[in-house]
Amino acid sequence: MKIIVVGAGAAGLAAAFTTSSAGHEVHVFDPTPDKAAAFVAAGRLAPVVEVEFGETAMITLCLAANKRWDSWSEQLQPFAPNGDWYQRSAMIVAARDNDDIASIRRLADYQSDLGLQVEALNARSIRKLEPALSPNVVGGLLVEQDHMVNNRILLSALRDACRHYGATFVAERVHGAGPRNVETDNGSFSADAVILAAGAWMSQIVLEPGLKPIAVHPVKGQILRLEGSPTSIFPTHPIDGLDVYLVPRTSGELVVGASVEDLGFDDTITAGAVYELLKRGRELVPGIDEMKVAETSVGFRPATLDHTPVIGAIGPDGPFVAAGLYRNGILLAPTIGDEVLHWVQGSPVSKWVEPFTPHQNSSTTDANPTTTQQVQ
Ligand SMILES: Cc1cc2nc3c(=O)[nH]c(=O)nc-3n(C[C@H](O)[C@H](O)[C@H](O)COP(=O)(O)OP(=O)(O)OC[C@H]3O[C@@H](n4cnc5c(N)ncnc54)[C@H](O)[C@@H]3O)c2cc1C
Repeated sequence: MKIIVVGAGAAGLAAAFTTSSAGHEVHVFDPTPDKAAAFVAAGRLAPVVEVEFGETAMITLCLAANKRWDSWSEQLQPFAPNGDWYQRSAMIVAARDNDDIASIRRLADYQSDLGLQVEALNARSIRKLEPALSPNVVGGLLVEQDHMVNNRILLSALRDACRHYGATFVAERVHGAGPRNVETDNGSFSADAVILAAGAWMSQIVLEPGLKPIAVHPVKGQILRLEGSPTSIFPTHPIDGLDVYLVPRTSGELVVGASVEDLGFDDTITAGAVYELLKRGRELVPGIDEMKVAETSVGFRPATLDHTPVIGAIGPDGPFVAAGLYRNGILLAPTIGDEVLHWVQGSPVSKWVEPFTPHQNSSTTDANPTTTQQVQ
């Protein structure tokens, strides 16, 4: 089958990987893959820490995706030169004061009610586990199920794997799409199946009449990359501080993220956001004072109105959309890849994805389907 994938971020590359490795002819369109949120992201695989009160379907989806990561990373391992790119090191939630402890306790109770495994840590045990933490940290949680991946190595491995299985990459922007065709400035391209995975820009693609668009808007995230040598001041676990997180890489990189701002596609790096990230980060890990600021960047999380994803075909023959992955697109990537392949093969949707199919989701809109949908 000939398949066109629009977007080479987390969702598009995952779809291209599973379909090309299953023997399909795949063409990926993306003029600016370096703009993908997936490139900017921190790479936390955090279904438990990211849990929101009341979102049980979302938790089930994220846990299923998390479980799939082990086998998925094995499939990708031959294409990832650095053996440390996927790390099953548990996540630490760290409290700076008693207010944080109260919030963490509420969250931990909810997580336990859901059957998720979290272990309470006092000030002594948390610093024993992670000596890089500040002596001011008063306690927290150990979350065994949450992990991390170097998302930039992931993207590069996915691209190499896709190329290995014969996929091609086309540096063109798609401005229109139907079930079996896409339109670019260089003309129309047809295929047996079309997958739309254009992230925060999804609503800019004009769909053929009769297809229900998905309303997606960008949520800006500013994020820092620090560099230092992995010594005792450098954490070995990903750390969540409720309003900041730190993700260590074995290379000595420490990702500190991230702001959450509803400002459309504004890509300004602001002094205020950088200051807040560094201030909150050093309250947890004082050693960051010694590190070099290697990169400041901005990414746009693709969000639907209710912040839940939409995964599935929007018409009887497609196109298939993977939209609104918001804060969990890296975590969800293997699941997106699996569901696209199921759809292409005519297999049923996985039960944990069913609540997020387009006919279940209010973010599909009946508004004039021939015009661009933009929700800010
Ligand atoms: C600061 C930050 C930190 C994050 N941290 C994490 C994390 O730790 N863990 C996690 O799971 N998630 C994280 N996320 C979220 C994650 O990055 C996104 O959910 C994920 O990247 C969404 O995947 P996507 O493929 O839908 O979109 P993207 O990754 O943004 O990719 C979309 C691609 O589509 C292309 N495109 C757009 N329009 C067109 C068009 N018209 N034609 C062709 N191509 C087009 C773009 O150029 C882009 O390359 C983070 C996001 C941000 C911003």
